[in-house]
Amino acid sequence: MADLLDTLKTTFGFSAFRGVQHQVIDRVMAGQRTAAIMPTGAGKSLCYQLPAVMLPGTCVVISPLIALMHDQLRAAEAVGIKAATLTSVDTNQAETIARFKSGDLNLLYAAPERASGDGFRDLLSQGKLSLFAIDEAHCVSEWGHDFRPDYRLLRPLFDRFSSVPRLALTATADEHTRADILTQLGISEDGLIVAGFDRPNIRYNIAPRAGTTRQISDFVAETPGAGIIYAQTRAQTEKLAAQLALNGRPTRAYHAGLEASVRAANQAAFVKSEDMVMVATIAFGMGIDKPDVRFVAHAGLPKSIEAYYQETGRAGRDGDPAAAQLFWGADDFARARIRLSEIPEDRIAGERTRLSALANLVETGTCRRAVLLRHFGESPPDNCGNCDNCLNPPARTNLTELARKLLS
Ligand code: ADP
Ligand code: MG
Repeated sequence: MADLLDTLKTTFGFSAFRGVQHQVIDRVMAGQRTAAIMPTGAGKSLCYQLPAVMLPGTCVVISPLIALMHDQLRAAEAVGIKAATLTSVDTNQAETIARFKSGDLNLLYAAPERASGDGFRDLLSQGKLSLFAIDEAHCVSEWGHDFRPDYRLLRPLFDRFSSVPRLALTATADEHTRADILTQLGISEDGLIVAGFDRPNIRYNIAPRAGTTRQISDFVAETPGAGIIYAQTRAQTEKLAAQLALNGRPTRAYHAGLEASVRAANQAAFVKSEDMVMVATIAFGMGIDKPDVRFVAHAGLPKSIEAYYQETGRAGRDGDPAAAQLFWGADDFARARIRLSEIPEDRIAGERTRLSALANLVETGTCRRAVLLRHFGESPPDNCGNCDNCLNPPARTNLTELARKLLS
């Protein structure tokens, strides 16, 4: 215990554990397989990084995105942890392999694609392993919104090293996904730790879109601090950014179609800024460490409640008040329904459930937070006092009717 806290301070510079971190780390240190469901920003990385520093051997981290791995690598190296990534774009693979074999790595980040090859298994048997950490573990579930078939190959790999503990981490897991994570990764039910999902400092506001960008520019004008606006398409991103820039607020755009150098420059400017507005597609956000984002606005319907929670969760990680503003339109639902008709038969039921959960969130006249938290399996109080419906209880409007029609 004293050792854990010492390392927390000396290596990571933190004075205390947050939420369930301590509970998770204790299990890992005791060699118990664990799945931790913790909200975005709760500090999942520490749950494997701290044991990786303290345990003899190397912690192998499976992560779905190369960019994410490189962010994590930089952060780990910045605090003096011996870490490396093994991805297709790394040119120093031979060196990394040598370091792993000689026990010179606390952390080795690898993509799930590696897991399928005999080569990786042979490599792992030539070093000493402390832990398998599976980041974004919901990717193992077909039910989840980011299914990655390669995650299914992890269990056979891990089973070859059955005495090495496993830690699955994710922010997004409804009942179904959780169960999948446990079975697909060979973790027993008593190894499941679920942190509270509530982000009490975030104020949720959801309103029907009134057709123009006026609502968004009014919202931006009224809301100080740095913030993110999620637009639906790349073109919308640039158009909206140009319009908002006219009001004098520093504004940038971000989407996957921009040159890598432009994306990097815009992201760096945003991270440093105290009042910049980033108008982005959902390509923006994962792995960005900016605790003082004061608002996240959606110019249209997000993909799912999970996506909404994850995207709005980028606001207010410092614990200070922050706003989540969603503008939705009937056309968003119309488009989503068209998409429903285009997906494979076996996925329609899941997608339909996801869509009606979203409809329920936007149409409700009751506490938004309660709807969100119930979706994640919690039993919140009926009134949070920090969402539009709690602060200004709506008169029963015909919205409910409207949303029902859209879904029927
Ligand atoms: P997640 O993966 O759960 O979204 P991260 O692991 O990226 O979250 O951590 C989010 C932020 O919280 C990072 O800036 C991290 O340094 C910080 N953090 C993690 N644990 C603690 C702690 N115990 N005390 C203070 N800050 C922490
Ligand atoms: Mg993370």
